Amino acid sequence: MPHVITDACITCGSCAENCPVEAIHTADSESQYFINPEVCIDCGACKSVCGADAIFADDELPADKQKFIEINANFFK
Ligand code: SF4
Repeated sequence: MPHVITDACITCGSCAENCPVEAIHTADSESQYFINPEVCIDCGACKSVCGADAIFADDELPADKQKFIEINANFFK
């Protein structure tokens, strides 16, 4: 059950700085950060430091944000 970053992300990077396993990345062409579901250990540290409320546990995503499960995973393929 990895955590997932949604389009509320303001690319501040605080999540990536606080992830103990370096699961969070982005690229210059992207407008948000992404969590690698293969690396995330579901600690919740990213969610607790996100000032934009952009991060959710995947089983707590709002219905209109479900697509971000795939969007986060696809960034790492
Ligand atoms: Fe990293 Fe923990 Fe967030 Fe997963 S839940 S992306 S391990 S900070």
